[in-house]
Amino acid sequence: MKVIGIDLGGTKVAAGVVNEKGKILEEVWTRTELRGGWKALKQQLVELCKDLQKKHPGVKAIGVGSAGPLHAPTGKLLDPTNFGWTSPLCVNLTAELTRALKKPVQLENDAAAAVLAESWKGGGGKNCVVLTLGTGLGVGVIANGKLVRGGRGLHPEGGHMLLHPGDASAPCGCGNLGCAEAYLSGMNFARRASKALGKETDGKTVAAQAQAGDKRALALFSEYADLLAHYLHNIVVLYYPEKVIFTGSFAETNALFLPQTRNGLETLIARRLRTLPLLPEMKVSRLGNRAGILGAAYIAINKNYAD
Ligand SMILES: [Zn+2]
Repeated sequence: MKVIGIDLGGTKVAAGVVNEKGKILEEVWTRTELRGGWKALKQQLVELCKDLQKKHPGVKAIGVGSAGPLHAPTGKLLDPTNFGWTSPLCVNLTAELTRALKKPVQLENDAAAAVLAESWKGGGGKNCVVLTLGTGLGVGVIANGKLVRGGRGLHPEGGHMLLHPGDASAPCGCGNLGCAEAYLSGMNFARRASKALGKETDGKTVAAQAQAGDKRALALFSEYADLLAHYLHNIVVLYYPEKVIFTGSFAETNALFLPQTRNGLETLIARRLRTLPLLPEMKVSRLGNRAGILGAAYIAINKNYAD
């Protein structure tokens, strides 16, 4: 059995042909077409799928893991925070792609897809949280072996929990100030670093400077590590994960923040640690940047994955 898994982010879109064993037979990466609204994005997704289907006949279904908010059970995108759309705000991606491609299509939040991929092919488990550190901050949770949803079938948008309410230095794409995403996504790390350093920069450049001992770059990672520790405190007391797995391109810089984050989190939950070993194992995904494709393929293969 072959399916197509699509990882749809605010910057990049990846599509891959994946078999039922989780082997990626082919993958393509490109910039997400967002300037032309839903019409242009739909055309991009349809073309990506048609090209892959030409090379790999016999694709049975398509799964899409997308940045949210979205409603997976009905397949609707609900004005995704980092897509910058004005109209239409809400589109039924599943219905429109099914019509265009004549195949069953399934939609899921990208972080939920990533956590499902971790339990399928990565290092996840029965109690696992995935944080995607990309354009946004995505949070996918499996607790007691089940994918965690919020009420009404909606995905819990953990990136928009407030870390510092009203902090004007942290404007979030959702319209609020001080969301976790406004500090902790890779894009927002770059935005804050650019402001602090007085010139346009990106995560990779600041990471290289920090590795070379640059004090201002090290301070930016230290601030990031501390904020992430506080955020993980909130995640731990809500979901009690045994594992926290980081994906997304900014996760590659983890050596510069993870040790301090681990210590910070240990201090914040010190009292709880007297009774239970609640400090989660924290690591970077061994699936690299393919968790999104694999998770999207997983939901296409396993229709009842959320039951
Ligand atoms: Zn927000």
